[in-house]
Amino acid sequence: MISILPRCSLVLVFAATLPLAAQTAPVTQAPKITLLHAARILDVQAGRVLSPGEVLVEGERIKAVGGHLPRPEGSAFIDLGDVTLMPGLIDAHTHLFLHPGAEDLQTVQESVPERTLLAASAARADVLAGFTAERDMGTEGAKCADVAVRNAINHGLIPGPRMLVSCNAISIVGGHEDAIGYNPDQHVLSNADYANNRDELVSVIREQRKGGADFIKIYETGRDGVKDGVFHSPYQYTEQELAAAVTEARRTGSRVGVHSTGEPGNLYAAEAGVASIDHAYQLSPETMRLMRERQIFAVPTFAISEYFAQHPASPAAEAREKQLISYHAAEFKKQLAAGVPFAVGSDVGPFPHGTQAREYELMVENGMSPADVLRSGLINGAKLLDWADEIGQLKAGYYADIIAVPGNPLESIKVLEHPTFVMKNGEVLRKD
Ligand SMILES: [Zn+2]
Repeated sequence: MISILPRCSLVLVFAATLPLAAQTAPVTQAPKITLLHAARILDVQAGRVLSPGEVLVEGERIKAVGGHLPRPEGSAFIDLGDVTLMPGLIDAHTHLFLHPGAEDLQTVQESVPERTLLAASAARADVLAGFTAERDMGTEGAKCADVAVRNAINHGLIPGPRMLVSCNAISIVGGHEDAIGYNPDQHVLSNADYANNRDELVSVIREQRKGGADFIKIYETGRDGVKDGVFHSPYQYTEQELAAAVTEARRTGSRVGVHSTGEPGNLYAAEAGVASIDHAYQLSPETMRLMRERQIFAVPTFAISEYFAQHPASPAAEAREKQLISYHAAEFKKQLAAGVPFAVGSDVGPFPHGTQAREYELMVENGMSPADVLRSGLINGAKLLDWADEIGQLKAGYYADIIAVPGNPLESIKVLEHPTFVMKNGEVLRKD
């Protein structure tokens, strides 16, 4: 008797701490139905704003879209007023594990648990700013801690965008992000995972996929410079090495995105069949032809360059960044004329999370129309993130990732900076 009593009380205490849902028999609940109404709605594909706009949401999906929809009995009704309903924004190049300040020192001074908590807070800032889907392009030394953040978001434990994550980026010894500038005897770790040849690339990709990476990020070029108006950035992997990485990623249902700024690295990446070339300052005519033919997306990341130019570490760094910005702006116009497909990615992290709508603005400032920037960001972005026909447009059957912005984004792309309403997966995360 005596021995049974404590065991019983333990069971009782445990039961009392269980959430209510776990204590009762499962009940099938009808999905929540909500009708959203606003003065306007954006048709991303057509590049048009229609008035008024309504979206019917059932559970996590969009059920219907139109001007005046019948309101189902028992549904909730949200009148958002003088705003434009549009799909949640997509950022195809983020770093949840970075925050402003000395980027390299952050990865040296902060533990991975601390960085993971900061990443959770970054995910919250991004989604509340209207970014409902992101491709995180490397934790910069926090290995696969991004998998934990992605899973916590997916389990509803913390707010954040739909995430595609890539663990550490992959680089060569002495290459990009390999603690260059530190005394090697201090053994400051690389922010990337090392792979020095084809076999090591395959092996690291297998480890990262085991660790939960959705996407593979490879540094294809190293330190950039412009000298006498000519851009230089040494390549890190040959076309054959990158092709082996792409084949291995594909074998397990994944894809490769490269950090690649200049030639011939960009050509090697395009020939190898990567999914995206990020930064892409310099693209040769042959690289652009391949990108068009194979629908490889360029992701310009103008916002990070602007931030670095505005917050330089030294006068020399400021001059270098400004030179790169004007070089890239001129090349971007050539890329637009050549019909290169684009997605929108900001490289947020080194600059504050939640402010990356600036990337959409900078693409317009550099010569793309707002309608084309929105198509690139949302329709191409959805393809690049492997959620084509699921996100990026307001259509029946798509996920209910919906935001509202004041004004008309086709007239002023700046309105993306000020979402007043954010819904992800049918759940309202923000309503001002
Ligand atoms: Zn990046």
